[in-house]
Amino acid sequence: MTVTDRTSSDFRAALDLYEHASLLELGRLADAERRRHHPESTVTYIIDRNINYTNVCVADCKFCAFYRRPRNREGYVLSFEEIGAKIDECKAIGGVQILLQGGHNPYIPFEWYLELMRYIKRNHPIHIHGFSPSEVVFFSERYGLSVPEVVRQLKAAGLDSIPGGGGEILVDAIRQRVARKKAQTEEWLGVQEEAHRQGMKTSVTMMYGLGESSADRIEHLFRVRELQARTGGFTAFICWPLQPEGTPEMSHYQKTDAVTYLRTLAIARIILDNVPNLQSSWVTMGHKVGQIALRFGANDYGSLMMEENVVSAAGTTYRTTLSEIDRLIRDAGYDPRRRRQDYSLIDDREVAA
Ligand code: SF4
Repeated sequence: MTVTDRTSSDFRAALDLYEHASLLELGRLADAERRRHHPESTVTYIIDRNINYTNVCVADCKFCAFYRRPRNREGYVLSFEEIGAKIDECKAIGGVQILLQGGHNPYIPFEWYLELMRYIKRNHPIHIHGFSPSEVVFFSERYGLSVPEVVRQLKAAGLDSIPGGGGEILVDAIRQRVARKKAQTEEWLGVQEEAHRQGMKTSVTMMYGLGESSADRIEHLFRVRELQARTGGFTAFICWPLQPEGTPEMSHYQKTDAVTYLRTLAIARIILDNVPNLQSSWVTMGHKVGQIALRFGANDYGSLMMEENVVSAAGTTYRTTLSEIDRLIRDAGYDPRRRRQDYSLIDDREVAA
């Protein structure tokens, strides 16, 4: 059941703006909204590491080039020690967070996840941003626990925040077509709401270019805004287009262009007037577009990631270094600042230390 009324004047005005306003007009409106939230000339970024603890998955998302079915010889589950070593490498370059996500692996017991949280906090303490809503729903179904109980137990074991992975398009007609076996719209949003209720901050994503309509994208944004109005738990929004190359069943899809990205980012900034931060997705769009995005609503340059297996498996990644990120942000006219997951700034003296 959708709570978004597509016939409302608010919805129709947003859709009209997205479809008919000029690119520069959208950028101007988005930049004004960005400056309302962030009047200072700072652009933040985070140093973190994406750790995909397993690539074994039974969800069979049509756009995913990363996963392997059970019993495939290329399937893996990282050991605690391997995960610990990756965290140490991340911390060695100033990393303050890990993004811990994996496939829906039916062979891992729930206790493994809880013990992993405890192991990390005991031996390699770092902020754990982990387990997208789709994984939480999978855990709930697989282990016979309610979603609140899964969140409660993961949090008690050491989970700090939940990423917005697997959001794709929050319209069931689209999810049924491309990701039928994983969390549908209400379930996905339900995990986010529960995490907020338990005091966690989370992020939210949108992956577009799945054959959805403009109205579907607007509905996704309205759903996010409605939930945020109730909980205030979203720290940030990030969107990026489908990378069709290398995907099992969507490689024939046309890749959307940079103008579509900037228009989508801008309309997100305009609609999501209650979400404080929007990230630029330079990892999928490249640095040129990533810099322009800072004038189209983004106030954050995302992360200097050490690994991005899911996107890179589909063939599109841009890599960068710390000094290059600083230079790119300065060249775009802003002051670069490192941040934590909750967007608090890291003191320059801590960076130098
Ligand atoms: S996107 Fe995630 S849930 Fe979907 S098939 Fe890939 S690993 Fe599995």
